[in-house]
Amino acid sequence: MKRRELLKTALASSVGLVGMSALKPLYASDAMMIKAEPMYDVPVTKVTDSCYYILAKDPEPTPENHAFFNNPGFVVTSEGVVVIDTGSSVQIGEMVLRQIKTVTDKPVVMVINTHYHGDHFLGNHAFVSAYPDVPIYAHPAAIEKIKSDGGDFWYGFMQRNSNNAITGTVVTLPNKTFKGGETIKVGDKTLKIHQFGVAHTESDLIIEVVEDKVAFMGDTAMRRVANMADGSFVGTIDAMKKAQALNCDHYIVGHGVHDNVKVCQDMQAFCEAIYNNAEEYYEEGLSDFEMKPKIMADPFMKNVASQWPGYDKTLGVFISLAVAEVEENLF
Ligand SMILES: [Zn+2]
Repeated sequence: MKRRELLKTALASSVGLVGMSALKPLYASDAMMIKAEPMYDVPVTKVTDSCYYILAKDPEPTPENHAFFNNPGFVVTSEGVVVIDTGSSVQIGEMVLRQIKTVTDKPVVMVINTHYHGDHFLGNHAFVSAYPDVPIYAHPAAIEKIKSDGGDFWYGFMQRNSNNAITGTVVTLPNKTFKGGETIKVGDKTLKIHQFGVAHTESDLIIEVVEDKVAFMGDTAMRRVANMADGSFVGTIDAMKKAQALNCDHYIVGHGVHDNVKVCQDMQAFCEAIYNNAEEYYEEGLSDFEMKPKIMADPFMKNVASQWPGYDKTLGVFISLAVAEVEENLF
């Protein structure tokens, strides 16, 4: 681990030890670093003979779920395991390693972080501890973001929302890059790395497992009202068209249950319902506040999206973001 670039230890972080009385039980790790208790086991979901993920049932981090609210995935190849997204903490990363062992004895030979949100990279620490030489890939813009402020921000975010359940987690940077457009062989599997522009963030990687007709979508597609603050509605609509054109049988999403191509069609319909309506109502001179009930009356929003987690709480924020993007695209 010493050859890795480590940004911070939990002990050095003031965030990590705020509110000692409220801390979860602490355990001494091998390195005698204070560490929050282990993450409970969540069983794997099998998609094909080689592609798996661990389904997080909650849409957001809480003390009860230890900040486990995204779906780490993995591909078992003849050479070893490729892990796609590592969870929000070293504890969750260690849980993912335990679940991989229920499927195969093969080592982890590669880790990929689909983007720079903390639930997708903070678990890296566990993989580097178990496999010191494992390469961790991400888009160059994702690495820059984690380095500049994303590491600190996401560490604090998870600590606050989980009641310090990620104590002991060390922000561990990816050390290799994929820009999109790469085709690589890992053992008997062919991985195509796609980057379809700014969608959920500017750094999203989609990983297609060619032989299995599976696409790991990161957070570009999901059936929940997700964080679009770093993304683009127009970019997501475009990315969803490209994702559908991959013609995969299975799309594994960062949050929620996997599905066929319908999950990409729904994400496209969701972004179109918000953005296209916002564009139209903006031209009519409506404020985002006035648009909200009209957008909620859109058939897709009323019949489908209203069932998604976070709908009531965050739709207004989404509409504001869409209006900002409409304005940006006008000038
Ligand atoms: Zn995300």
